Amino acid sequence: MDAMSRSYFARDVAAQVAGALREIDLMLFPRGCAGCGAPDDVLCTSCAPLFDCPVHREFPPALISSGYCYSCCSYAGAVRRAILQWKDHDDVQVGRLFARFLSHRACEVVPQICTPGSRIAVVPLPSTRASIARRGRFHTVEISRPVSRALEHSLAEQEIAVRHVCAVNFHAGARKSVKGTVAQRQRRSRTQMYVRSRAYPILRAYPSVILVDDICTTGSTLLGCSRVLRAAGFHVLCAVTLAAVLPSQLQDDVH
Ligand SMILES: [Zn+2]
Repeated sequence: MDAMSRSYFARDVAAQVAGALREIDLMLFPRGCAGCGAPDDVLCTSCAPLFDCPVHREFPPALISSGYCYSCCSYAGAVRRAILQWKDHDDVQVGRLFARFLSHRACEVVPQICTPGSRIAVVPLPSTRASIARRGRFHTVEISRPVSRALEHSLAEQEIAVRHVCAVNFHAGARKSVKGTVAQRQRRSRTQMYVRSRAYPILRAYPSVILVDDICTTGSTLLGCSRVLRAAGFHVLCAVTLAAVLPSQLQDDVH
């Protein structure tokens, strides 16, 4: 058996073992689909494909140089329910699937927009301290770290270096508000965030930033974060999120 066949064989065995472990896990701890509640699956065969319906939102190139936030799907229905199960009800099993979906989307788009030899920082959008305390975890890193690892692997051939860094924080007492006009929310987001001092040396070495978040709703946190990074001398290449509220949905209550 040559090296390539050995590698395929190893991957095949690993996939079979992972499948068997998943079956055992579901037998021991029965659960329903995070999107629709159908029995015996983390995401059923109807809900999983909903996360492979790519969409994008446009942003000012002055702030996000590619001009886009790329997402796996739009934020509605079963997608919304599944994401809330992960974020607010600690469904870590579906979180692992989300990390795979978003890694796949990032590996599709990022290689097309970055130049060989560039150095990329993968930065999760911050959560407020109140949200982290309420959830007991900073859930965005559960998807941003796998995205960073996947990009590192996929961009190695173009000699693009990738590094994960939690570079931006909300100030203590800051609250993510959904009230007010988009301009007011953007202003609030910008003044409520700062670049962490320990992130500066890493960002100087990896100055092209890819922002990662779970949902792009109004885009005000995304833009606030981009402004804070730009003011600190770094540039945001693009953003990737699991789901996005499309402009046509914005008048509906999706929060
Ligand atoms: Zn389902």
